[in-house]
Amino acid sequence: MAAPKPVGIRLERKKDASLLNWNLKRLHPPEKICVPLRQGSRPCVRVGEQVRIGQRIGEPENPEEATVHASISGTVTEIAAAPDAMGGMSVRVVIQKSTEPKLAPGVWEIRKGWEQIPAGELEAAFQCAGLVTTDLSAEPVHSKIKRHAAASTLVVNCCEPEPYVTCEQTLLLSHPVEVLKGAELLRKALGAEKILLAFETCNFEIGELLKSKIFFLKWTHAEARAVPSLYPQGTERLLLQNWFPGEKEKAVVFPASTAFAAYEAVAHQKPFYERLVTVGGECVVEPRSLWLPLGISFQDAIHACKGVMREPERVVMNGPMAGIAQADLNVPVTAGTAAVLALPKEITKKGPEEPCIRCNLCVNKCPAGISPVMITLAADHQELETAGIFGAAACIECGNCGYVCPSQRPMLEKIRTAKKKLGISGTKPAGAHHG
Ligand code: SF4
Ligand code: SF4
Repeated sequence: MAAPKPVGIRLERKKDASLLNWNLKRLHPPEKICVPLRQGSRPCVRVGEQVRIGQRIGEPENPEEATVHASISGTVTEIAAAPDAMGGMSVRVVIQKSTEPKLAPGVWEIRKGWEQIPAGELEAAFQCAGLVTTDLSAEPVHSKIKRHAAASTLVVNCCEPEPYVTCEQTLLLSHPVEVLKGAELLRKALGAEKILLAFETCNFEIGELLKSKIFFLKWTHAEARAVPSLYPQGTERLLLQNWFPGEKEKAVVFPASTAFAAYEAVAHQKPFYERLVTVGGECVVEPRSLWLPLGISFQDAIHACKGVMREPERVVMNGPMAGIAQADLNVPVTAGTAAVLALPKEITKKGPEEPCIRCNLCVNKCPAGISPVMITLAADHQELETAGIFGAAACIECGNCGYVCPSQRPMLEKIRTAKKKLGISGTKPAGAHHG
């Protein structure tokens, strides 16, 4: 099969600042956290109840859903709906921290013989840990495994296409063996034959590290493969479509950080209550990737990195290309939050929108092969049906079209609005994975 012609943009990576500190730290718990319950789950604690770290606080209403766990110990002070970082509302369990952190029984205890655990029991272990994928879809891992029961290849996504974001890179540099062991657990649960670890060519050190660990583990069923450092080539859909076409039909992609969480869930019996997040952007005093408890506010996440040295023009979740701008910094970090970025004016400000000059640049740089210009012009005229005909549903929300547009047209915003009006959902932003 002929190699695909990659469509993408070579972006300035801006990752150095948050990589200066790649010793991973956990911060002292904030005064309170607001853990959002998932749609399809209900609270199983009451206001006034004492909870411990890792304790179950949300029960699934159906077998496909995941449990939700407390990320700090303390007292439940409120259970109510509030805005989330995706622009919607979700029910949150508010926990006021206790003086001493306390773990729920069994949490962080090594599970005896965890490497020999039968494949049939792994799904239950993931479900019990409330393990969800660490991308914006936050799909329960046990459900994703069920959906891909026929997969023969597990692709572990070690790419990080958005500028500034380094949490996957930091995790892979610090814990390569744990990521591999977690990938092996996922492979076993899927019943797949092989593992392919996709890393970006510019991150050759990650590729070398993975290859050397695979060699020492004597694994013949795993391979690390480079993919071009072109935005957004590291995103899930493009990874399979462009770089693993032979595997496309029988492959399933999981982010590297989900593999790591799978390892922790099985080996350490640790529920999924925290994740690595990059807190960065030019305005943050000490940009870095660090472990944050799920439910911590964006404000507290920035505060954990010594706050801001100048007022950000915009705070975005997950990246400057496809990220979602936040008006309220009280929104909580969730499983899909890879980054909290405080960006200054010179990065976020474009000039005033001007008329389209039909240069076709947006079409040439669209990795989905659709016509961003026609979709947005149709949307401008409220011709939603036409926007749909030009392929709005296929947009992966990477932001390339707006990035290259010389007329400063807010392409992504226009397309997102059109998709919303058309009732098109389920496509996660391309830079959201990192996965
Ligand atoms: S945001 Fe959508 S339309 Fe624009 S370049 Fe990306 S995939 Fe194409
Ligand atoms: S890049 Fe901008 S100006 Fe050029 S065709 Fe696309 S929308 Fe029009």
